[in-house]
Order: sequence, then structure tokens, then C-alpha cells
Amino acid sequence: MTDKDLCILCGHQCCKWIAFTYGELSGQALEFYLARGCKILRCDPYIDGEKKGTSLYRIYIPHPCPHLIEGKGCAIYDRRPLVCLEYSGSDDPLVKELCRIGKSAPIITNSNQS
Ligand code: SF4
Ligand code: SF4
Repeated sequence: MTDKDLCILCGHQCCKWIAFTYGELSGQALEFYLARGCKILRCDPYIDGEKKGTSLYRIYIPHPCPHLIEGKGCAIYDRRPLVCLEYSGSDDPLVKELCRIGKSAPIITNSNQS
């Protein structure tokens, strides 16, 4: 089974959101994003099982990629951007349970849903 098949099986979870990492989030900021259909997950940095530094949040804005064809996959799969080519959901708190491709992504080492 190819990576493309695995992505179709997972339902292309990572192609449906624009995500960025943020530090402190006020209650007003939380309301702002939640009212717009965003998902917000904690992604605190852990080293050797210990939380390091301040809490981080991952904000997911619902915005399916225009190249995604539901049920068929990426219309530009063979020439998709590097960010897509190198992406793995294994450390992404939103999709790590669903991602079928288990490479290691650099940013997040542990997470808790807020
Ligand atoms: S979450 Fe993983 S399996 Fe799903 S589309 Fe993204 S890379 Fe592919
Ligand atoms: S270009 Fe393809 S792989 Fe990248 S986000 Fe869009 S649909 Fe997904």
C-alpha cells in the first residue's frame, strides 16, 4: 500500500486545516478562535517526560486545501509542496491517532487537549 493510499484511508485529515503554534492565549482569544470553528489543542513541549517552558497551543483553522478532492485525495500529489511531502501526523495532536504515516515531525513532543 502506498503513502497515497494511506492518506486516502485516513480521510486526508491534515489537508483540512491551517495550523499554527501559539504561546499565551487569553480567554478572549480563545473565544475568538472557537467562535470561528477553530480547534485549539495544548502542545506543551516535553523533554524526557518533563514539561519544559511555557505552555503552547496549536490553533487549527478549518480550511480544506483547494487541491484536495474528497474521496480521491490530492490532485497534485506528485508535485505537492515540500511542507506536505515532509509532513507526518505522528506528533500532531489533532491527527496523530488517525495518521497512517508514522514518520517523526519536529515540532511537538507531547500534547494534552485543552
Ligand atoms: S494525517 Fe497522515 S495519513 Fe492522513 S493525510 Fe495527513 S499524512 Fe496522510
Ligand atoms: S497540496 Fe495535496 S497534500 Fe498538500 S495539503 Fe493540499 S491536498 Fe493535502
